[in-house]
Amino acid sequence: MKFGFDIDDTLINLREHAFHIYNKKLNQNVELEQFHALDKVQIHELFGMTAEQGSEMWKSSLEEIYYTTCPPYPDAVEALQRLDREGHEIYYITARREEHGERTMKWMIDQKFPVRKDRFYYGMQDEDKVSIIEKLNLDYYFDDKPAVLMTLGHLPIQLYAKSQSYNRHLELPCITSWSQLFDEIMHKKRIEPADRDATE
Ligand SMILES: [Mg+2]
Repeated sequence: MKFGFDIDDTLINLREHAFHIYNKKLNQNVELEQFHALDKVQIHELFGMTAEQGSEMWKSSLEEIYYTTCPPYPDAVEALQRLDREGHEIYYITARREEHGERTMKWMIDQKFPVRKDRFYYGMQDEDKVSIIEKLNLDYYFDDKPAVLMTLGHLPIQLYAKSQSYNRHLELPCITSWSQLFDEIMHKKRIEPADRDATE
């Protein structure tokens, strides 16, 4: 089967990594609890920044955010390695900008994610992921961002939200831990959304 994955905040814990970098760089001590309660993707408000200041901070920290020690989520590498071993096709679809594509691919390989160059897509806008995902005829796709997930509902694809504080309102099955992916595929269990009613 064909599996598609977003990278940031789906396979790797990028926002939290950025959160720690911000605390250090700004010499602040914002509590992790506040981060986990955020109902939006952007984190600048926690540090008292305007949207503009937040955007500047993100850009000036990007090298460190992207290419240092951002941890993959627990079991993510292992689950994808196992899919690869079982002969499934793994695609990455990240909206990281064009100039970060090659380095991001190399970084992912260094983290031991199974990557094939011809199955690694980058540099599109969030709203343009849909056309790539449609063309690839994926069986499964995983992403965290409401702005992306909301464009994919009409596709004949098993769609999952990687559960995050800012996507709990979505009416989609969600994956909380990457060990669930293994269970889903190997044991054909359905991953139920946390708050969906039982009518589906
Ligand atoms: Mg993402």
